Amino acid sequence: SAIELADVVKEYHSHGEVVQAVKGVTLGIEEGEFFSLLGPSGCGKTTTMRMIAGFEAPSKGLVKLYGQDVTNVPPNKRDVNMVFQSYALFPHMSVWDNVAFGLKQRRTPKAEIDQRVGEMLEIVDLADRGKRMPRQLSGGQQQRVALARALVNRPRALLLDEPLGALDLKLRQAMQIELKRIQREVGITFVYVTHDQSEALTMSDRIAVMNDGAVEQLAGPREIYERPATAFVAGFIGTSNLLTGVATGGVLQVGGGRVLVPGVDGEVTVTVRPEKITIGTEEPAQGLSAVKGTVAEVVYLGTYNSYAVSLADGAEITVFQQNVHDATATAERGDSVWLSWQAQHSY
Ligand code: ADP
Ligand code: MG
Repeated sequence: SAIELADVVKEYHSHGEVVQAVKGVTLGIEEGEFFSLLGPSGCGKTTTMRMIAGFEAPSKGLVKLYGQDVTNVPPNKRDVNMVFQSYALFPHMSVWDNVAFGLKQRRTPKAEIDQRVGEMLEIVDLADRGKRMPRQLSGGQQQRVALARALVNRPRALLLDEPLGALDLKLRQAMQIELKRIQREVGITFVYVTHDQSEALTMSDRIAVMNDGAVEQLAGPREIYERPATAFVAGFIGTSNLLTGVATGGVLQVGGGRVLVPGVDGEVTVTVRPEKITIGTEEPAQGLSAVKGTVAEVVYLGTYNSYAVSLADGAEITVFQQNVHDATATAERGDSVWLSWQAQHSY
């Protein structure tokens, strides 16, 4: 792996109390990978990132970069670069000079600086903005300058801590696509911190979902979405339905129906994605999970409808159903309906 964390723990001592910000994280990030640390605020993402960069020393465990133990190596001796959410550019320097700054400091020959800065501004699509001052640029353009400034040093890995957090939604979505394109183009490892699940799902090769200082699941976006490893991941990623109860002989009785959980006996939490559920008025076939409910709400969302269905036991299930012919819903508010899905779609 390009970046390895082995049972890394970080404890902070404040006011006589010990806070465990990171509780034994082990993971490997491959060279050239777009890797995300995803989780709610306070779960330890920034602390983990700062230990990779070297701004923080682990209380326990090892950090390795490219096979070398760097646990006690200072940040400037590590082949990584970090971009922060507050991407403070030098306000009195042009875009060009901002990007050239690091190279000048390292006394890189002028011809090489010109070539590398020019090339980098091309990559971030700001070739014609070199003479502008930061205040003359939009937020997204400023963020691309910050990115160019980090990338021009050719680090083997770039660490980005919520780099789009300050941008509005539309710009953020555009920048997500841009960032992914840039990463592919320069081919270096990106470690990306975000609390935004859709951002992580759309950009990443793999995602480590963190909760309370620990990694709950490490997998590709599709697997994380379709096969959440824990109830926390299921709840945090996208919309998911959670059904809980006691299963007997692989069947969980809920809402006047059955949820098939093959091989499970005892207390169980089952998750089902809204788009895996079929809504209908006919009683579904025996081999399917099937529950009965009443449509509480229908929301038309263009290509699909979103239904909120209340079960007899008070649970509410969200169903997304593709709009096949026209905007007419297959069920209306107040209708009694059956919801069904294949056993393989509940986890
Ligand atoms: P995230 O980036 O996921 O929001 P952080 O890594 O910033 O989470 O923080 C994880 C936990 O560690 C939080 O509870 C936070 O309050 C605590 N923490 C972070 N930095 C410090 C510090 N310097 N001193 C004490 N506690 C800290
Ligand atoms: Mg943070």
